[in-house]
Amino acid sequence: MKHDVLIVGGGVSGTALLYTLCKYTDVKNIGLIEKYSDFGLVNSASTMNSQTLHFGDIETNYTFEKAKKVKRMADMVMKYLEAEKFRDCKCNYFIKVPKMVLAVGKEQVDTLRERYKSFSQLFPNLKMIGREEIGRIEPRVLEGRDPNQEILALVTEDGYTVDFGRLSHCFVDHAKEINPDISFYLSTKLIKIVKNGDLYKVYTDKGEFEAPAVIIAAGGHSLMIAKSLGYGKDFSILSMSGSFYTGPKVLNGKVYTMQVAKLPFAAIHGDPEVHDETTTRFGPTAKPIFLLERYNNSTFWEYWKTFGLGIKPIVSILNILFDKIIFNYILKNVIYDMPSIGKKAFLKEIKKIVPNIKLDEIKFAKGIGGTRPQIINNTTKKLEMGEAKIVGEKIIFNITPSPGASTCLGNAFDDTLKLMEFLDNKFKFNKEQFEKDLVV
Ligand SMILES: Cc1cc2nc3c(=O)[nH]c(=O)nc-3n(C[C@H](O)[C@H](O)[C@H](O)COP(=O)(O)OP(=O)(O)OC[C@H]3O[C@@H](n4cnc5c(N)ncnc54)[C@H](O)[C@@H]3O)c2cc1C
Repeated sequence: MKHDVLIVGGGVSGTALLYTLCKYTDVKNIGLIEKYSDFGLVNSASTMNSQTLHFGDIETNYTFEKAKKVKRMADMVMKYLEAEKFRDCKCNYFIKVPKMVLAVGKEQVDTLRERYKSFSQLFPNLKMIGREEIGRIEPRVLEGRDPNQEILALVTEDGYTVDFGRLSHCFVDHAKEINPDISFYLSTKLIKIVKNGDLYKVYTDKGEFEAPAVIIAAGGHSLMIAKSLGYGKDFSILSMSGSFYTGPKVLNGKVYTMQVAKLPFAAIHGDPEVHDETTTRFGPTAKPIFLLERYNNSTFWEYWKTFGLGIKPIVSILNILFDKIIFNYILKNVIYDMPSIGKKAFLKEIKKIVPNIKLDEIKFAKGIGGTRPQIINNTTKKLEMGEAKIVGEKIIFNITPSPGASTCLGNAFDDTLKLMEFLDNKFKFNKEQFEKDLVV
């Protein structure tokens, strides 16, 4: 089968691109290949991630520049969610709750106060609040807390908790409404891709496909596929699985803790479950695993193919682990996943948010939490802070650790611009309409 555009991967990234192409361009002949029988079953599934639409306002590991970029993209998802919720009840897959980042102790309080000076300009709805107001919004954050402990929070009403798996479905449904001729190849796995003249030839376990332009939106697998075509040789992946503990409803909204700036992961937070507000989820932890896809042992070799077996990635990983902050962080997180001692160790972290929570109130959430393909840059020998996009000859590879779900439409916008070039501007992208609809 020949298509003008082939998308590989039916998570929130691939489906956001599909929706963007259908709604805002005149490309009609599109194919989407997904190895599972349905969309959004891997990292985009609501069980696999923290369900947070990250804007950068309460994520203290984001720099101002990063927050500015992420906000623009998260605003697009927010606008899509708000616009669609009344049109189609199937799209009611998010809840809106208050969210805050909590600073505890003088050092954190001073840092947060300083951060507020610049971040409040980017986020005008962000308010700085003290003990009394924190207690009014989140009583359990104060109960049992030392009254002499200095605390401060930044809070906003715009806390979106999203089922990104269902969002993937919504993108697909809306794309199909506009273009009923999209070709979906579910339960179809890309095995190999080669460039053959002007066309990419995609070999799958269900047959062959061709297209002049291809977008690979296959999470960590995107780098493996990139490497098979000679791209991304300077990158490896540190696969950071994230687990959660759950408890009863002890919070009314999202409460984040302060993150060390060096770490590319959101700090531990407590969030209401998107489909069950009586459950609070705490996490995620961050433990390295040797799988590209969590709970899928067949991705063990794929992980090593992606990591690369040369000396460079080994030097990089040693360099990363020699950093005391990162080493201690990873060690602590390995313990959190261990039976019994893990729960006790993690309780200490949860108590920073809910001081009087009891050990028997929480339990390890089995089978919950995916894995983040964190990029290791083998040139700088450092961990990169977020997603990576490798642009090749008429092909793009998107590697999407957090906040890849929040930035799905922003990525789709960037990829659509590139695709128009790849297709020699034979098609038109109505980017003005995209911006009118989705850019705040
Ligand atoms: C613990 C954790 C917490 C997170 N929290 C958040 C959060 O709160 N907010 C946020 O924005 N992001 C969060 N993320 C990140 C977010 O989940 C991902 O960035 C996002 O889901 C990536 O979407 P995707 O479509 O790129 O990848 P995926 O959802 O993983 O989709 C990739 C798809 O490609 C398919 N695929 C792979 N290989 C092949 C192949 N060979 N052939 C065909 N198909 C293939 C897979 O089956 C899959 O469906 C979190 C991630 C984790 C692990």
